[in-house]
Amino acid sequence: MAEPVNRALPTAHAALARLRRGECSSEELVRDVLGRIRATDGGIGAYLWVDEEDALGQARAADARRAAGNEGRLLGVPVAVKDVLNVRGQPCTCASRILRGYVAPYDATAVARLRAEGAVFAGRTNMDEFAMGSTTENSAVQVTRNPRDPERVPGGSSGGAAACVAAGEAVVALGTDTGGSIRQPAAFCGCVGLKPSYGRVSRYGLTAFASSLDQIGTLSADVRDAALMLQVMAGADCMDSTCLDAPVPDYGAALRDDLRGMKLGIPREYFVGGLAPEVETPVRAAIEQCRALGAEVAELSLPHTEYAIATYYVIAAAEASANLARFDGVRYGRRARAESDPMTMYCRTRAEGFGAEVKRRVILGTYVLSSGYYDAYYLTAQRVRTLIRRDFEKAFAHCDALLAPVAPSLPWRLGEAADDPLKMYLGDIYTVTANLAGICGMSVPCGSSADGLPVGLQILGPALGEEKVLRVGHAYEASASRPAAGP
Ligand code: GLN
Repeated sequence: MAEPVNRALPTAHAALARLRRGECSSEELVRDVLGRIRATDGGIGAYLWVDEEDALGQARAADARRAAGNEGRLLGVPVAVKDVLNVRGQPCTCASRILRGYVAPYDATAVARLRAEGAVFAGRTNMDEFAMGSTTENSAVQVTRNPRDPERVPGGSSGGAAACVAAGEAVVALGTDTGGSIRQPAAFCGCVGLKPSYGRVSRYGLTAFASSLDQIGTLSADVRDAALMLQVMAGADCMDSTCLDAPVPDYGAALRDDLRGMKLGIPREYFVGGLAPEVETPVRAAIEQCRALGAEVAELSLPHTEYAIATYYVIAAAEASANLARFDGVRYGRRARAESDPMTMYCRTRAEGFGAEVKRRVILGTYVLSSGYYDAYYLTAQRVRTLIRRDFEKAFAHCDALLAPVAPSLPWRLGEAADDPLKMYLGDIYTVTANLAGICGMSVPCGSSADGLPVGLQILGPALGEEKVLRVGHAYEASASRPAAGP
Protein backbone atom coordinates (compact mmCIF):
# COMPACT_ATOMS: atom_id res chain seq x y z
CA MET A 1 0.00 0.00 0.00
CA ALA A 2 1.45 3.37 -1.00
CA GLU A 3 1.79 6.21 1.45
CA PRO A 4 -1.09 8.68 1.91
CA VAL A 5 -1.26 11.11 -1.00
CA ASN A 6 -0.79 14.79 -0.24
CA ARG A 7 -3.09 14.73 2.76
CA ALA A 8 -1.52 17.84 4.16
CA LEU A 9 -1.82 20.03 1.06
CA PRO A 10 -4.69 22.46 0.54
CA THR A 11 -7.12 21.64 -2.27
CA ALA A 12 -9.46 23.88 -4.23
CA HIS A 13 -12.48 21.65 -3.68
CA ALA A 14 -12.00 21.63 0.11
CA ALA A 15 -11.40 25.40 0.12
CA LEU A 16 -14.55 25.94 -1.94
CA ALA A 17 -16.59 23.82 0.47
CA ARG A 18 -15.36 25.97 3.38
CA LEU A 19 -16.02 29.18 1.45
CA ARG A 20 -19.56 28.05 0.62
CA ARG A 21 -20.25 27.16 4.24
CA GLY A 22 -18.97 30.56 5.27
CA GLU A 23 -16.18 29.04 7.37
CA CYS A 24 -13.57 31.27 5.79
CA SER A 25 -13.36 34.14 3.34
CA SER A 26 -11.37 34.28 0.14
CA GLU A 27 -9.34 37.06 1.71
CA GLU A 28 -8.33 34.70 4.53
CA LEU A 29 -7.52 31.96 2.07
CA VAL A 30 -5.35 34.27 -0.05
CA ARG A 31 -3.66 35.69 3.08
CA ASP A 32 -2.79 32.13 4.12
CA VAL A 33 -1.23 31.42 0.74
CA LEU A 34 0.67 34.72 0.72
CA GLY A 35 1.91 34.02 4.25
CA ARG A 36 3.12 30.63 3.16
CA ILE A 37 4.90 32.16 0.14
CA ARG A 38 6.61 34.69 2.40
CA ALA A 39 7.68 32.02 4.86
CA THR A 40 8.78 29.36 2.40
CA ASP A 41 9.53 30.66 -1.06
CA GLY A 42 12.88 32.18 -0.16
CA GLY A 43 14.21 28.61 0.11
CA ILE A 44 12.37 27.29 -2.94
CA GLY A 45 12.17 30.01 -5.58
CA ALA A 46 8.92 28.83 -7.15
CA TYR A 47 7.59 32.34 -7.85
CA LEU A 48 9.05 34.95 -10.17
CA TRP A 49 6.52 37.61 -9.23
CA VAL A 50 3.79 38.03 -6.62
CA ASP A 51 1.58 41.09 -6.15
CA GLU A 52 0.11 40.77 -2.66
CA GLU A 53 -2.05 43.89 -2.82
CA ASP A 54 -3.54 42.98 -6.16
CA ALA A 55 -4.22 39.39 -5.03
CA LEU A 56 -5.95 40.63 -1.88
CA GLY A 57 -8.01 43.04 -4.00
CA GLN A 58 -9.14 40.17 -6.23
CA ALA A 59 -9.96 38.11 -3.10
CA ARG A 60 -12.06 40.90 -1.62
CA ALA A 61 -13.91 41.22 -4.93
CA ALA A 62 -14.61 37.48 -4.80
CA ASP A 63 -15.94 37.81 -1.24
CA ALA A 64 -18.19 40.68 -2.34
CA ARG A 65 -19.45 38.61 -5.26
CA ARG A 66 -20.27 35.71 -2.93
CA ALA A 67 -21.99 38.06 -0.47
CA ALA A 68 -24.15 39.30 -3.37
CA GLY A 69 -25.28 35.70 -3.90
CA ASN A 70 -23.19 35.24 -7.01
CA GLU A 71 -21.57 31.81 -7.17
CA GLY A 72 -18.62 30.85 -9.33
CA ARG A 73 -17.08 27.44 -9.73
CA LEU A 74 -13.72 28.72 -8.45
CA LEU A 75 -14.91 31.78 -6.59
CA GLY A 76 -12.10 33.02 -4.35
CA VAL A 77 -9.57 30.25 -5.10
CA PRO A 78 -5.96 31.40 -5.64
CA VAL A 79 -4.33 30.02 -8.80
CA ALA A 80 -0.63 30.36 -9.63
CA VAL A 81 0.26 30.75 -13.30
CA LYS A 82 3.36 29.60 -15.19
CA ASP A 83 5.14 32.62 -16.62
CA VAL A 84 4.30 31.59 -20.21
CA LEU A 85 0.55 32.34 -20.03
CA ASN A 86 -0.87 35.83 -20.37
CA VAL A 87 -2.73 37.29 -17.40
CA ARG A 88 -3.86 40.84 -18.09
CA GLY A 89 -1.74 43.45 -16.30
CA GLN A 90 0.85 40.94 -15.03
CA PRO A 91 4.36 40.34 -16.37
CA CYS A 92 4.78 37.46 -18.83
CA THR A 93 8.48 36.89 -19.41
CA CYS A 94 8.73 33.13 -20.11
CA ALA A 95 11.66 33.34 -17.66
CA SER A 96 13.67 34.92 -20.48
CA ARG A 97 15.80 38.06 -20.60
CA ILE A 98 14.28 38.90 -23.97
CA LEU A 99 10.83 39.50 -22.44
CA ARG A 100 12.00 41.33 -19.33
CA GLY A 101 9.57 44.16 -18.68
CA TYR A 102 6.80 42.76 -20.88
CA VAL A 103 3.33 43.11 -19.35
CA ALA A 104 0.46 41.06 -20.77
CA PRO A 105 -2.25 43.24 -22.35
CA TYR A 106 -4.92 40.50 -22.27
CA ASP A 107 -5.96 37.24 -20.61
CA ALA A 108 -5.28 33.85 -22.20
CA THR A 109 -8.59 32.08 -22.84
CA ALA A 110 -7.88 29.50 -20.11
CA VAL A 111 -7.15 32.34 -17.69
CA ALA A 112 -10.25 34.29 -18.76
CA ARG A 113 -12.45 31.23 -18.14
CA LEU A 114 -10.98 30.71 -14.68
CA ARG A 115 -11.35 34.43 -13.94
CA ALA A 116 -15.01 34.35 -14.99
CA GLU A 117 -15.54 31.62 -12.36
CA GLY A 118 -13.89 33.75 -9.70
CA ALA A 119 -10.28 32.48 -9.58
CA VAL A 120 -7.71 34.82 -8.00
CA PHE A 121 -4.39 35.21 -9.82
CA ALA A 122 -1.74 35.65 -7.19
CA GLY A 123 1.58 35.24 -8.98
CA ARG A 124 3.81 33.99 -11.77
CA THR A 125 5.85 30.82 -11.47
CA ASN A 126 9.36 30.01 -12.63
CA MET A 127 10.03 27.80 -15.64
CA ASP A 128 12.70 26.81 -18.12
CA GLU A 129 13.14 29.67 -20.58
CA PHE A 130 10.33 29.44 -23.16
CA ALA A 131 9.44 26.04 -21.61
CA MET A 132 12.56 24.38 -23.04
CA GLY A 133 14.00 22.01 -20.48
CA SER A 134 13.24 19.44 -17.82
CA THR A 135 14.69 20.94 -14.63
CA THR A 136 13.76 24.68 -14.56
CA GLU A 137 17.52 25.32 -14.55
CA ASN A 138 17.18 26.96 -17.98
CA SER A 139 15.33 29.88 -16.35
CA ALA A 140 17.22 33.11 -16.99
CA VAL A 141 15.99 34.42 -13.64
CA GLN A 142 16.50 32.00 -10.75
CA VAL A 143 16.89 28.45 -9.52
CA THR A 144 13.84 26.59 -8.20
CA ARG A 145 14.40 23.87 -5.63
CA ASN A 146 12.38 20.73 -5.09
CA PRO A 147 10.31 21.13 -1.89
CA ARG A 148 10.83 17.43 -1.12
CA ASP A 149 14.63 17.80 -1.26
CA PRO A 150 16.10 21.28 -1.78
CA GLU A 151 19.30 19.83 -3.27
CA ARG A 152 17.27 18.47 -6.17
CA VAL A 153 15.50 19.99 -9.16
CA PRO A 154 11.71 20.30 -9.22
CA GLY A 155 11.61 19.05 -12.81
CA GLY A 156 10.53 21.21 -15.69
CA SER A 157 9.63 23.10 -17.53
CA SER A 158 6.68 23.89 -15.19
CA GLY A 159 8.99 23.45 -12.18
CA GLY A 160 7.83 26.57 -10.35
CA ALA A 161 4.18 25.59 -10.74
CA ALA A 162 4.80 22.07 -9.38
CA ALA A 163 7.02 23.32 -6.55
CA CYS A 164 4.54 25.95 -5.37
CA VAL A 165 1.70 23.40 -5.22
CA ALA A 166 3.91 20.81 -3.47
CA ALA A 167 5.04 23.43 -0.94
CA GLY A 168 1.50 24.61 -0.22
CA GLU A 169 2.36 28.03 -1.72
CA ALA A 170 -0.60 27.80 -4.12
CA VAL A 171 -3.81 25.85 -4.11
CA VAL A 172 -3.60 24.98 -7.81
CA ALA A 173 -1.35 26.10 -10.65
CA LEU A 174 -1.50 26.33 -14.42
CA GLY A 175 1.33 24.77 -16.41
CA THR A 176 2.01 23.82 -19.99
CA ASP A 177 3.13 20.51 -21.45
CA THR A 178 4.83 20.25 -24.84
CA GLY A 179 6.77 17.08 -24.12
CA GLY A 180 6.14 16.36 -20.44
CA SER A 181 6.44 19.73 -18.74
CA ILE A 182 3.42 19.21 -16.50
CA ARG A 183 3.64 15.48 -15.84
CA GLN A 184 7.37 15.27 -15.10
CA PRO A 185 7.58 18.13 -12.54
CA ALA A 186 4.40 16.76 -10.92
CA ALA A 187 6.15 13.40 -10.56
CA PHE A 188 9.35 15.02 -9.25
CA CYS A 189 7.54 17.17 -6.66
CA GLY A 190 4.82 14.71 -5.63
CA CYS A 191 1.70 16.39 -6.96
CA VAL A 192 -0.89 15.66 -9.65
CA GLY A 193 -0.19 16.94 -13.19
CA LEU A 194 -2.79 16.75 -15.96
CA LYS A 195 -1.97 17.28 -19.62
CA PRO A 196 -5.23 17.38 -21.55
CA SER A 197 -5.51 16.11 -25.12
CA TYR A 198 -4.32 18.41 -27.89
CA GLY A 199 -7.18 20.79 -28.64
CA ARG A 200 -9.07 20.22 -25.38
CA VAL A 201 -8.01 23.58 -23.92
CA SER A 202 -7.53 26.71 -26.03
CA ARG A 203 -3.92 27.82 -26.50
CA TYR A 204 -4.90 31.44 -27.14
CA GLY A 205 -2.69 33.59 -24.92
CA LEU A 206 -0.08 30.88 -24.39
CA THR A 207 3.33 31.98 -25.66
CA ALA A 208 3.96 29.28 -28.26
CA PHE A 209 6.93 26.92 -28.06
CA ALA A 210 5.87 24.11 -30.44
CA SER A 211 2.35 24.81 -31.61
CA SER A 212 1.43 21.26 -32.64
CA LEU A 213 2.51 19.86 -29.26
CA ASP A 214 1.72 22.55 -26.63
CA GLN A 215 -1.19 22.10 -24.22
CA ILE A 216 -2.26 23.97 -21.09
CA GLY A 217 -3.00 21.90 -18.01
CA THR A 218 -2.82 21.89 -14.23
CA LEU A 219 -0.71 21.03 -11.23
CA SER A 220 -2.78 20.23 -8.18
CA ALA A 221 -2.74 18.41 -4.87
CA ASP A 222 -5.27 15.84 -6.02
CA VAL A 223 -7.18 14.48 -9.00
CA ARG A 224 -10.49 16.09 -8.04
CA ASP A 225 -8.89 19.53 -8.41
CA ALA A 226 -7.50 18.56 -11.84
CA ALA A 227 -11.05 17.60 -12.91
CA LEU A 228 -12.51 20.82 -11.54
CA MET A 229 -9.98 23.02 -13.33
CA LEU A 230 -10.32 21.16 -16.63
CA GLN A 231 -14.10 21.46 -16.43
CA VAL A 232 -13.78 25.24 -16.40
CA MET A 233 -11.03 25.58 -19.03
CA ALA A 234 -12.04 22.99 -21.66
CA GLY A 235 -14.08 23.63 -24.77
CA ALA A 236 -14.14 25.37 -28.13
CA ASP A 237 -12.67 28.85 -28.55
CA CYS A 238 -12.94 30.93 -31.71
CA MET A 239 -9.53 32.46 -30.91
CA ASP A 240 -7.75 29.10 -31.42
CA SER A 241 -8.67 27.16 -34.54
CA THR A 242 -6.97 24.02 -33.19
CA CYS A 243 -9.21 24.02 -30.10
CA LEU A 244 -11.78 21.25 -30.55
CA ASP A 245 -15.48 21.86 -30.68
CA ALA A 246 -16.26 18.65 -28.76
CA PRO A 247 -18.73 18.46 -25.87
CA VAL A 248 -17.17 18.85 -22.43
CA PRO A 249 -18.25 15.93 -20.23
CA ASP A 250 -18.92 16.16 -16.50
CA TYR A 251 -15.40 15.28 -15.31
CA GLY A 252 -16.35 15.27 -11.64
CA ALA A 253 -18.98 12.61 -12.33
CA ALA A 254 -16.28 10.35 -13.80
CA LEU A 255 -14.52 10.06 -10.43
CA ARG A 256 -15.30 6.75 -8.76
CA ASP A 257 -13.57 4.65 -6.16
CA ASP A 258 -13.12 1.44 -8.15
CA LEU A 259 -11.85 0.38 -11.56
CA ARG A 260 -14.28 -2.44 -12.25
CA GLY A 261 -14.84 -2.99 -15.96
CA MET A 262 -11.77 -1.01 -16.99
CA LYS A 263 -9.02 -2.44 -19.16
CA LEU A 264 -5.54 -1.06 -18.54
CA GLY A 265 -2.54 -1.66 -20.81
CA ILE A 266 1.10 -1.78 -19.72
CA PRO A 267 3.39 -0.74 -22.59
CA ARG A 268 6.32 -3.16 -22.63
CA GLU A 269 8.68 -0.56 -24.15
CA TYR A 270 8.25 1.71 -21.08
CA PHE A 271 9.80 -0.85 -18.73
CA VAL A 272 13.16 -1.46 -20.38
CA GLY A 273 16.79 -0.85 -19.47
CA GLY A 274 17.36 2.71 -18.25
CA LEU A 275 14.36 2.70 -15.93
CA ALA A 276 15.67 3.15 -12.38
CA PRO A 277 14.59 0.36 -10.01
CA GLU A 278 13.61 3.03 -7.41
CA VAL A 279 11.04 4.23 -9.96
CA GLU A 280 10.01 0.86 -11.35
CA THR A 281 9.18 -0.69 -7.96
CA PRO A 282 6.52 1.85 -6.86
CA VAL A 283 5.08 2.04 -10.40
CA ARG A 284 4.69 -1.75 -10.52
CA ALA A 285 3.09 -1.68 -7.06
CA ALA A 286 0.64 0.97 -8.29
CA ILE A 287 -0.25 -1.23 -11.27
CA GLU A 288 -1.01 -4.10 -8.90
CA GLN A 289 -3.12 -1.73 -6.82
CA CYS A 290 -5.16 -0.86 -9.94
CA ARG A 291 -5.67 -4.56 -10.54
CA ALA A 292 -6.88 -4.95 -6.95
CA LEU A 293 -9.36 -2.13 -7.61
CA GLY A 294 -11.00 -4.27 -10.27
CA ALA A 295 -9.20 -3.35 -13.50
CA GLU A 296 -8.16 -5.94 -16.04
CA VAL A 297 -4.44 -5.39 -16.68
CA ALA A 298 -2.51 -6.66 -19.70
CA GLU A 299 0.85 -5.96 -21.34
CA LEU A 300 0.93 -4.54 -24.84
CA SER A 301 3.39 -3.01 -27.27
CA LEU A 302 4.01 0.52 -28.58
CA PRO A 303 6.67 -0.54 -31.08
CA HIS A 304 7.83 2.90 -32.27
CA THR A 305 8.64 4.23 -28.79
CA GLU A 306 12.40 4.08 -29.39
CA TYR A 307 12.12 6.78 -32.10
CA ALA A 308 10.13 9.19 -29.96
CA ILE A 309 12.96 11.31 -28.57
CA ALA A 310 14.58 11.92 -31.96
CA THR A 311 11.18 12.67 -33.53
CA TYR A 312 10.16 15.05 -30.76
CA TYR A 313 13.44 16.99 -30.74
CA VAL A 314 13.28 17.52 -34.52
CA ILE A 315 9.64 18.66 -34.56
CA ALA A 316 9.76 20.70 -31.33
CA ALA A 317 12.93 22.51 -32.42
CA ALA A 318 11.56 23.18 -35.91
CA GLU A 319 8.38 24.73 -34.54
CA ALA A 320 10.29 26.65 -31.87
CA SER A 321 12.58 28.21 -34.47
CA ALA A 322 9.55 29.52 -36.33
CA ASN A 323 7.64 30.65 -33.22
CA LEU A 324 10.59 32.44 -31.64
CA ALA A 325 11.33 34.42 -34.80
CA ARG A 326 8.88 37.05 -33.49
CA PHE A 327 11.24 38.02 -30.67
CA ASP A 328 13.42 40.44 -32.59
CA GLY A 329 13.41 43.53 -30.41
CA VAL A 330 10.76 45.27 -32.48
CA ARG A 331 7.43 44.40 -30.93
CA TYR A 332 7.98 42.71 -27.59
CA GLY A 333 10.20 43.07 -24.58
CA ARG A 334 13.78 44.12 -24.62
CA ARG A 335 15.75 45.63 -27.50
CA ALA A 336 19.53 45.77 -27.77
CA ARG A 337 20.98 49.28 -27.69
CA ALA A 338 20.15 51.28 -30.80
CA GLU A 339 22.34 50.24 -33.68
CA SER A 340 23.06 51.78 -37.02
CA ASP A 341 21.19 49.14 -39.00
CA PRO A 342 18.19 46.91 -38.16
CA MET A 343 19.99 43.62 -38.89
CA THR A 344 22.62 44.35 -36.24
CA MET A 345 19.82 45.29 -33.83
CA TYR A 346 17.95 41.99 -34.42
CA CYS A 347 21.11 39.94 -34.03
CA ARG A 348 22.25 41.72 -30.86
CA THR A 349 18.77 41.53 -29.33
CA ARG A 350 18.55 37.79 -29.89
CA ALA A 351 22.17 37.09 -28.94
CA GLU A 352 21.77 38.97 -25.65
CA GLY A 353 18.16 38.03 -24.98
CA PHE A 354 18.10 34.24 -25.43
CA GLY A 355 19.86 31.70 -23.23
CA ALA A 356 22.00 28.78 -24.46
CA GLU A 357 19.25 26.14 -24.63
CA VAL A 358 16.89 28.39 -26.58
CA LYS A 359 19.67 29.23 -29.03
CA ARG A 360 20.52 25.54 -29.42
CA ARG A 361 16.89 24.77 -30.35
CA VAL A 362 16.52 27.73 -32.71
CA ILE A 363 19.70 26.71 -34.52
CA LEU A 364 18.73 23.02 -34.65
CA GLY A 365 15.21 23.86 -35.77
CA THR A 366 16.39 26.19 -38.50
CA TYR A 367 18.78 23.49 -39.69
CA VAL A 368 16.16 20.72 -39.94
CA LEU A 369 13.84 23.03 -41.87
CA SER A 370 16.46 24.29 -44.29
CA SER A 371 16.37 23.21 -47.91
CA GLY A 372 18.40 20.08 -48.45
CA TYR A 373 17.76 18.82 -44.91
CA TYR A 374 13.98 19.26 -44.70
CA ASP A 375 13.18 15.86 -46.23
CA ALA A 376 15.88 14.02 -44.33
CA TYR A 377 14.94 15.36 -40.89
CA TYR A 378 11.64 17.24 -40.65
CA LEU A 379 9.61 15.19 -43.11
CA THR A 380 10.98 11.92 -41.73
CA ALA A 381 10.10 13.04 -38.20
CA GLN A 382 6.54 13.84 -39.31
CA ARG A 383 6.21 10.37 -40.81
CA VAL A 384 7.49 8.70 -37.65
CA ARG A 385 5.10 10.86 -35.65
CA THR A 386 2.23 9.25 -37.57
CA LEU A 387 3.58 5.79 -36.70
CA ILE A 388 3.74 6.74 -33.02
CA ARG A 389 0.17 8.02 -33.14
CA ARG A 390 -0.97 4.78 -34.76
CA ASP A 391 0.74 2.74 -32.03
CA PHE A 392 -1.53 4.49 -29.51
CA GLU A 393 -4.64 4.14 -31.68
CA LYS A 394 -4.06 0.39 -31.87
CA ALA A 395 -3.41 0.19 -28.12
CA PHE A 396 -6.60 2.10 -27.26
CA ALA A 397 -8.61 -0.27 -29.45
CA HIS A 398 -7.89 -2.86 -26.74
CA CYS A 399 -7.78 -0.87 -23.50
CA ASP A 400 -9.20 2.23 -21.81
CA ALA A 401 -5.92 3.66 -20.53
CA LEU A 402 -2.22 2.86 -20.23
CA LEU A 403 -0.10 2.79 -17.06
CA ALA A 404 3.59 3.69 -17.16
CA PRO A 405 6.33 5.57 -15.37
CA VAL A 406 6.58 9.35 -15.95
CA ALA A 407 10.35 9.69 -15.90
CA PRO A 408 13.05 7.02 -15.96
CA SER A 409 14.85 8.44 -12.90
CA LEU A 410 14.26 10.10 -9.55
CA PRO A 411 14.61 13.93 -9.49
CA TRP A 412 18.14 14.90 -10.47
CA ARG A 413 20.44 16.80 -8.13
CA LEU A 414 20.79 20.47 -9.01
CA GLY A 415 23.38 20.74 -11.78
CA GLU A 416 23.42 17.01 -12.49
CA ALA A 417 21.78 17.24 -15.93
CA ALA A 418 22.20 20.93 -16.66
CA ASP A 419 25.39 20.63 -18.68
CA ASP A 420 24.41 17.51 -20.57
CA PRO A 421 21.55 18.25 -22.99
CA LEU A 422 21.43 14.67 -24.28
CA LYS A 423 21.01 13.26 -20.77
CA MET A 424 18.21 15.74 -20.18
CA TYR A 425 16.51 14.97 -23.51
CA LEU A 426 16.61 11.21 -22.89
CA GLY A 427 14.75 11.73 -19.62
CA ASP A 428 11.69 12.73 -21.66
CA ILE A 429 11.25 9.28 -23.23
CA TYR A 430 7.98 8.38 -21.47
CA THR A 431 6.27 11.76 -21.85
CA VAL A 432 6.96 13.13 -25.35
CA THR A 433 4.97 10.30 -26.96
CA ALA A 434 1.64 11.63 -25.65
CA ASN A 435 2.30 15.06 -27.17
CA LEU A 436 3.36 13.57 -30.50
CA ALA A 437 0.12 11.53 -30.55
CA GLY A 438 -2.11 14.34 -29.22
CA ILE A 439 -3.49 12.13 -26.42
CA CYS A 440 -4.04 13.01 -22.75
CA GLY A 441 -1.96 12.00 -19.76
CA MET A 442 -1.71 12.52 -16.04
CA SER A 443 0.91 11.98 -13.38
CA VAL A 444 -0.31 10.86 -9.94
CA PRO A 445 1.96 10.37 -6.93
CA CYS A 446 2.61 6.67 -6.31
CA GLY A 447 4.81 6.57 -3.26
CA SER A 448 8.47 7.31 -2.89
CA SER A 449 11.97 5.94 -3.05
CA ALA A 450 13.86 4.77 0.02
CA ASP A 451 15.21 8.35 0.38
CA GLY A 452 11.69 9.80 0.40
CA LEU A 453 11.80 11.17 -3.14
CA PRO A 454 8.44 11.15 -4.90
CA VAL A 455 7.61 8.89 -7.84
CA GLY A 456 4.78 9.42 -10.32
CA LEU A 457 2.45 6.94 -12.00
CA GLN A 458 1.61 8.03 -15.55
CA ILE A 459 -1.89 7.32 -16.83
CA LEU A 460 -2.33 7.83 -20.58
CA GLY A 461 -5.72 7.98 -22.25
CA PRO A 462 -6.98 8.34 -25.83
CA ALA A 463 -7.60 11.76 -27.41
CA LEU A 464 -10.47 13.38 -25.47
CA GLY A 465 -10.37 10.46 -23.02
CA GLU A 466 -9.74 12.64 -19.96
CA GLU A 467 -12.67 11.05 -18.10
CA LYS A 468 -10.93 7.68 -18.19
CA VAL A 469 -7.60 9.07 -17.06
CA LEU A 470 -9.22 11.02 -14.23
CA ARG A 471 -11.23 7.98 -13.16
CA VAL A 472 -8.14 5.76 -12.95
CA GLY A 473 -6.15 8.47 -11.19
CA HIS A 474 -8.84 9.19 -8.65
CA ALA A 475 -9.54 5.55 -7.79
CA TYR A 476 -5.83 4.85 -7.38
CA GLU A 477 -5.27 8.01 -5.33
CA ALA A 478 -8.24 7.28 -3.07
CA SER A 479 -7.05 3.73 -2.43
CA ALA A 480 -3.49 4.89 -1.75
CA SER A 481 -4.78 7.45 0.78
CA ARG A 482 -6.90 4.94 2.66
CA PRO A 483 -5.19 3.52 5.70
CA ALA A 484 -4.16 -0.08 5.07
CA ALA A 485 -6.67 -2.58 6.45
CA GLY A 486 -5.54 -3.65 9.91
CA PRO A 487 -5.19 -7.26 11.01
N1 GLN B 1 11.60 18.59 -21.58
C1 GLN B 1 10.99 18.78 -22.84
C2 GLN B 1 11.76 19.80 -23.64
O1 GLN B 1 12.73 20.26 -23.15
C3 GLN B 1 9.55 19.17 -22.69
C4 GLN B 1 9.32 20.59 -22.42
C5 GLN B 1 7.87 20.97 -22.33
O2 GLN B 1 6.99 20.11 -22.24
N2 GLN B 1 7.61 22.26 -22.41
O3 GLN B 1 11.41 20.15 -24.71
